[in-house]
Amino acid sequence: MELYDKYPVHLSNSLGGKKELFTPVNPGHVGMYVCGPTVYNDVHLGNVRTFLTFDIVSRYFRHLGYKVRYVRNITDVGHLENDADEGEDKISKKARLEQLEPMEVVKHYTEGFHEVSRQFNILPPSIEPSATGHIVEQIQITQKLIDLGLAYEVNGSVYFDVLAYDKNNHYGILSGRVIEDLMESGRKLDSQDEKRNKIDFALWKKASPYHIMRWPSPWGEGFPGWHIECTVMSTKYLGETFDIHGGGMDLKFPHHECEIAQAVGAHGKAPANYWMHSNMLTVNGQKMSKSLGNSFLPRQLFTGDHPMLERGYGPMTVRFFMLQSHYSSTLDFSNEALNAAEKGFRKLSNALGIIKKMNHPGGGAATGNSDLDKLVTDAYTNMSDDFNTAKTLAVLFEMASRINDMKSGNLSLKSVSEESFQTFKKTYTAVMEDVLGLREEQEHDHELLKGVIHVLIDLRKKAREDRNYALSDRIRDDLKRLGVQLMDGKEGEMSYTLE
Ligand code: AMP
Ligand code: ZN
Repeated sequence: MELYDKYPVHLSNSLGGKKELFTPVNPGHVGMYVCGPTVYNDVHLGNVRTFLTFDIVSRYFRHLGYKVRYVRNITDVGHLENDADEGEDKISKKARLEQLEPMEVVKHYTEGFHEVSRQFNILPPSIEPSATGHIVEQIQITQKLIDLGLAYEVNGSVYFDVLAYDKNNHYGILSGRVIEDLMESGRKLDSQDEKRNKIDFALWKKASPYHIMRWPSPWGEGFPGWHIECTVMSTKYLGETFDIHGGGMDLKFPHHECEIAQAVGAHGKAPANYWMHSNMLTVNGQKMSKSLGNSFLPRQLFTGDHPMLERGYGPMTVRFFMLQSHYSSTLDFSNEALNAAEKGFRKLSNALGIIKKMNHPGGGAATGNSDLDKLVTDAYTNMSDDFNTAKTLAVLFEMASRINDMKSGNLSLKSVSEESFQTFKKTYTAVMEDVLGLREEQEHDHELLKGVIHVLIDLRKKAREDRNYALSDRIRDDLKRLGVQLMDGKEGEMSYTLE
């Protein structure tokens, strides 16, 4: 029996708005698609929250014994300013401003995103496809939608015909938006004149002469719309109907609504059985976003170099802070909350260190320990209840206090059966490390690094005393390449800065 049989997962399906028992398309397998970042600038802490949510989902499914295929894309074309069908492509714009090739922008920020993911212990997905790698498929599906009468070409651009689609389907099924309301509201956009109706959205856009990201198509040179990439990449790697589609709450409309329309239109079936939306990280109640100027970068958080930060915080403290709330609630950022999270995380982390070294003396009670067994069950029950990390952490605190009691002798291991102890130990360790992805803050490594740099500084001093300048310069230059800048002081003493 797998853990997923013992602790079946229930999740809140944004499609329908109910909590449902998770039943995969293929027994024992989970296929999940999550909208990844648009790589035109540094990911901020708000983005991190969304990717952390789905890191937890994929980690937990894996832990329960499922084989998980997790696809998270990189948006490197087609996402226009204002998230609408107008304006410049976000990546092209950055490339123009910085005088770079668009793909230089893409590579730089994709690497930055990967680095941040590593820092927060967010595991890589199974497949990370990019929109520019799937232009051919995007053209094919656009043509198919035209052939089916669900899209039309005007002046080299192709638009999805929402009213034609809605005749036999329900546009608004996910977001609850009503077509009549949408037709009345909204700004007037330039391309509206081209569209049959203002709610139609672009599948393909004609490239103006100055547009740098362009591909040939049956409709002339252009580039794909934002929504079509996700339909193409999810279908290609997970099939026409897969288990879970995820993303930030702000993508529900129009992005995900349009994805459903495209997929249902082209394949005649719903793309995903379950839709999950992660709520926003806010600052003083406002969504953290680059355009509002209230976002900060992970780097600033670690160093404390931001007017809103009292000091720096480690990535595991931040991870813990985010896990303290359920993914479907908004989470407000504050220094107080981070200070509290740091203390809380330290408690759990200390207990982890203790239990890892602790062994059962052998013998002991023959029957299980109902208190410890219950905590194990509670941890799983809470995770299986819509990935409730907040409640799971509360159980881990109780487990940590039992661990401290075991250490102090308040709870005698002799009174606990060996099996109960082993299950308890295994669960605490696995939930902390594998499921929640909490690992020791790397302070230890930092201390070690400082020590090693000082050894090298001493060696360099010695080399200079011996007039071995070739060696002393080499130590300085090699360290510089690694981001450690040595500085010679007046008195011959040396200090360093880390990049
Ligand atoms: P983007 O690069 O803008 O396409 O965003 C990448 C992901 O981050 C999307 O799934 C967004 O929904 C999500 N996101 C953006 N801002 C926030 C925020 N303040 N809190 C949580 N998620 C966010
Ligand atoms: Zn998407």
